[in-house]
Amino acid sequence: MYKTKTGKRTIELIKRDNRVISPSLTREYEFAFKNGSGVYVFDLDNKKYLDFAAGVAVNALGYNNKFVLNAIKKQLNNGLHIGFSDFYCEKPVEFVELLLKFVPNNLEKAFLSNSGTESIECAMKMAKWHTRRKWCISFHNSFHGRTYGSLSLTDSKKVHKERFEPFLPVKHVHYADTFRYNGNEEECANNSLNELEKTINELRNDVAAIFLEPIQGEGGYIVPPISFIKGVREICDKYNILLAVDEVQSGCYRTGKFLCIENFKVKPDIVCLSKAVGGGLPLGVTLASSEIMDWVSGSHANTMGGSLLACSAGIATLNYFKKIKIWNNVIDTGNFILNKLNKLKKEYEFIGDVRGLGLMIGIEFVDNKKNKWYNVDFRDRVVYNCKNNGLIVLGAGKSVIRFCPPLILRKKDAEIGLKIFEKSLKEI
Ligand code: PLP
Repeated sequence: MYKTKTGKRTIELIKRDNRVISPSLTREYEFAFKNGSGVYVFDLDNKKYLDFAAGVAVNALGYNNKFVLNAIKKQLNNGLHIGFSDFYCEKPVEFVELLLKFVPNNLEKAFLSNSGTESIECAMKMAKWHTRRKWCISFHNSFHGRTYGSLSLTDSKKVHKERFEPFLPVKHVHYADTFRYNGNEEECANNSLNELEKTINELRNDVAAIFLEPIQGEGGYIVPPISFIKGVREICDKYNILLAVDEVQSGCYRTGKFLCIENFKVKPDIVCLSKAVGGGLPLGVTLASSEIMDWVSGSHANTMGGSLLACSAGIATLNYFKKIKIWNNVIDTGNFILNKLNKLKKEYEFIGDVRGLGLMIGIEFVDNKKNKWYNVDFRDRVVYNCKNNGLIVLGAGKSVIRFCPPLILRKKDAEIGLKIFEKSLKEI
């Protein structure tokens, strides 16, 4: 790991951590969280940072939102766990009833779990149960999680899958990445769609579901053309395949709409949510129509799903989104950042692409604008400089920096972050 400017307490904690915590975790750099407030976080040595990572898109309302904390405190006095698979309880029902008001009306029922990967496992099993088909299809560069079903769908970094074979029956096809495609948008979308249809035919349409991130997250914040997402829907309809969208990172107003796929005016059959939906507590949700969610008692269940604390935090988070009409700020601040970044792109040969919707924004670093070679080293150095200068950002894809700040980020704080970002570029 690259050594950033790091205080004594942080270094001490990292030593303790190295002794007892699994080395499989992917620590980006030497930042050790102490506490946070709004869109700012403090490390163990009390250094202040502006947070453009939001705990990987979890902390949509930033840190210490009183509305959410009060809801959690209230539930604390009434019990933490009941075993929602075995007994009935109001809180999870209330949460799902509320959530259903935020999503397209073909989605009628939910299965509750504790993480993104579990929401995908559920979707995969449900699709297989309902269709009685064997295969699933997902996309190259996609990330859907790390348990066996979701890992079978994932095709992001080699290290995720190495030595873990065999996987479940999944075929991967190319996502429509227009920046990396030599040609126009339509051609790019059509090529991917042709490959998708060819793959379905090769599998003799024994395909239960196509798993799709409407914007690829870990893969590099890749925004596909509208015609691609619409085309995937049309192919699903043609072959009677379920469209399962992974909104774990892109959902919950991150792109201005509650579901990112709404930007493409496409209705999904299954939706997977997690991260922001639990307001900082572990919560996974898989949504579908009653017709699709037709499996029988015992075919899928869990112990901790429907956690009373997580559902309370989830209810408060959804209500707060609505109360402050969070989507307005997401679009406002998002467009403000995109405009500024597009200006930087003109000035810097190393910035190959700037893209995004709302507050899901990616900056792709290249060797130069013509050859578009992935400039991984440059990206990494910008990330570390940002950390040293007081801005928390994360990488994505091969050479992308992602901005996924709390959705409450205002333009004045965004401006501070952008100044730090530019300073960090100039220092290289
Ligand atoms: N799907 C997407 C799009 C993700 O970004 C992630 C995590 O980053 C996951 C699934 C897996 O979620 P979790 O880490 O909660 O299992």
